[in-house]
Amino acid sequence: MPELPEVHTVSAALKPLLLDRTFVKIAVFREKLRYPLAPLLNPELLNQPVTDVRRRGRYIVIELANCHALVVHLGMTGVFRQAEPGEARRKHEHVIFHLDDGNELRFECTRRFSSIICCTLDAPGAEPECLAMLGVEPLDGAFTAAYLYGVLQRRKCPVKVALMDNAIVVGIGNIYAAETFFMAKINPTRLACDITRKECSALVRAAKKVLSAAIEAGGTTFSDYRQLDGSEGKFECELLVYGRKGQPCTRCGAPVRTVVQGGRTTFYCPKCQL
Ligand SMILES: [Zn+2]
Repeated sequence: MPELPEVHTVSAALKPLLLDRTFVKIAVFREKLRYPLAPLLNPELLNQPVTDVRRRGRYIVIELANCHALVVHLGMTGVFRQAEPGEARRKHEHVIFHLDDGNELRFECTRRFSSIICCTLDAPGAEPECLAMLGVEPLDGAFTAAYLYGVLQRRKCPVKVALMDNAIVVGIGNIYAAETFFMAKINPTRLACDITRKECSALVRAAKKVLSAAIEAGGTTFSDYRQLDGSEGKFECELLVYGRKGQPCTRCGAPVRTVVQGGRTTFYCPKCQL
């Protein structure tokens, strides 16, 4: 599933294509993805310049001059593709955005867990109401050791489950959580409320470092994720613990172990992550 760095990469690639452009037509080829697509046929979405494309958590917000916005979640397999006008439609291309410069932006999704929601914003740049439940951004100044310590104190679940809770901090998915705990040398199976202030500081530092490095590399390539131009993310070769079950720890040599937490596989080194 595309995580924060992948969504960040897609959002950054969409921005120059869409900014100041308008949709002259939005063609929809199926009834629904995760949610119905009929709201995309609203004429209010047409002929309005795109004023911003931004990421919030694992969502992409495409804002129009009239404060209408599209909120996109890529699900497991959602991909945007720039296509030549008139190019034959691929089987899983469900939405085609026709731009005023003649280009087409196509949304393809094989497993259809993705969503495109239409909403109106209270003001330019405002948070869409459907995203109001999201916690702080991990790369923002608001994600501090003091903040994390405050919320973890009240949680009795494993600390990794808490760090992946979008109501606490958004977009730290399974791969980057594993890497964060490895870098911070903290065992992800410990209880959230037992994590010290100093350890929170190490976790926050590690999360920011891991996510920034992954964004820099254009994300990690897995399953169906690709960048807008079809190229692959390059972070995979930098993963230090994720996906290395049974292999020697890259830091101490002990075999990497896995445990299932909250339905997800956690990779960690039982020897140097305390
Ligand atoms: Zn180790």
